Formats: sequence, C-alpha cells, structure tokens
Amino acid sequence: MEDKDLIRYSRHIMLPEIDIEGQISISSSKIAVVGLGGLGCSASVYLAASGVGELNLIDNDLIDLSNLQRQILFSEADLNKKKVDTAKIKLTSLNENIKVNSCNLRLSKSNIRKILEGSEIVLDCSDNFETRKVINAYCLNEKKILISGSSQGWKGQFFALDFRNENSPCYECFFEDLKGEDLSCRESSIFSPLVGIIGSFMASELIKKLISIGELKSEIIEIDLKQNIFRRLNLRKNENCLLCSKVKK
Ligand SMILES: [Zn+2]
Repeated sequence: MEDKDLIRYSRHIMLPEIDIEGQISISSSKIAVVGLGGLGCSASVYLAASGVGELNLIDNDLIDLSNLQRQILFSEADLNKKKVDTAKIKLTSLNENIKVNSCNLRLSKSNIRKILEGSEIVLDCSDNFETRKVINAYCLNEKKILISGSSQGWKGQFFALDFRNENSPCYECFFEDLKGEDLSCRESSIFSPLVGIIGSFMASELIKKLISIGELKSEIIEIDLKQNIFRRLNLRKNENCLLCSKVKK
C-alpha cells in the first residue's frame, strides 16, 4: 500500500478489526450496485470513500428534479443526465484509486448474468419487485451474497442473504409475507434522511462481509424514523419455496 493510501485509509487502518490487511481486502473487491436512487447513492458514496476496489453501477434512469431531495450524488447541473454516468464521475472524483463501471441498462433475466458476472456481492437498491426477484434468483444460482434494501415514507428495511450457505432463505421464501408492505414503489413518498441511513447500513454490511467481521445473519432489519423504532426479525428458509427448495444440493 502506498504512503498516500495509508493516510487516506488511516482511520480504517486504526481499527484493529480492519488494519492494513482488511483495507487491502476492501480495495481488491468487486461489487455491484443495482439502482442509483436514494439507497444506491448513499451506499455507493461510502463504498467509494472506503476504497471498495471496483464498483459496477447499474441503472437506466435519467436524473429528475424530484430525485435531488434525497439522491445525494446528483446536483442541479446534472438534471436529465444519465444517473450512471454522473455517478461514475462523482465517485471517481471522490476516490481516484477505485474503478467505477457504469451500465445504463435495466436488469433482466436475459442480461443479468453478463452484467453481474465478476461482482462478488450484489447490493440491490432497485425500486421494483420484478428486478428484486431477478436479482434474487441470480444470486441464489451463483451462490453470491445479496444485500437488499427498500424504503417508503418514514420506514425502511434491509436484509442480507449469503447464498454460499445452502440453508440460506431466499427473497421468495418471505416475499409473500412482505408483499403488502415491501417498500419499493417508485412514485411513493419518502423521508430524505431515511435513504441515507438504510444505504449506509447496506454499505456497512457489505464492507463487514469483505473483511469477515460479524456474522451475516438471515434477518431483516426494519427502521421507522418517525418514531425511531428499530426491529430485527429472523428470516427462515421456506421449505415450500418455489425457487430455492428446487435448487440442487
Ligand atoms: Zn426461497
């Protein structure tokens, strides 16, 4: 590690759980961020600042005035530009050490394998069920780690699933339970700081996974910022799940 990197990452390196070795692991990782809304913006800022080696950004939206209330990578001068292109410029200017790749496509069953190939962890910051399901199926089949978040109004939630563990539940195991309240509507109300908090949690879980800190539990964490309520619920594999119960063991 060069001297200037020792300075740049010194506050990480001073943490005994990270040290130089951990920072090198962070710097040599490749991850994907799907969706550059409020969650994707806040998560990717912390991932880039932390030195995550390669960020693959996937989003096919343009920057709209209504995004600026919470999507902290974008400013007024960026209106109507592609989110991935602007995000790449901002994140690269924050940290020249990292590689940022931009993909201006909507993920689908037919393109996901090619787009997410090489990304060891997938951060799902998408805003719709269809994309979430496609990402879940892909990560399950490829035995990757999926960290997924959503938010609406004052409430947000996130969960992490480690498909390297055969007993991990998948999104479809508990999707039916969440269907009524899963928070992913594009046009819904949203309290600005909420996406910063959920996105930061997602970045934190990802970085901890890269340096093997803490246990990646199959649980969902729900946060209600209006009342400052924080809840964690265990997620269990559904033996009748139409997706993961059919996976060959
Ligand atoms: Zn399942």
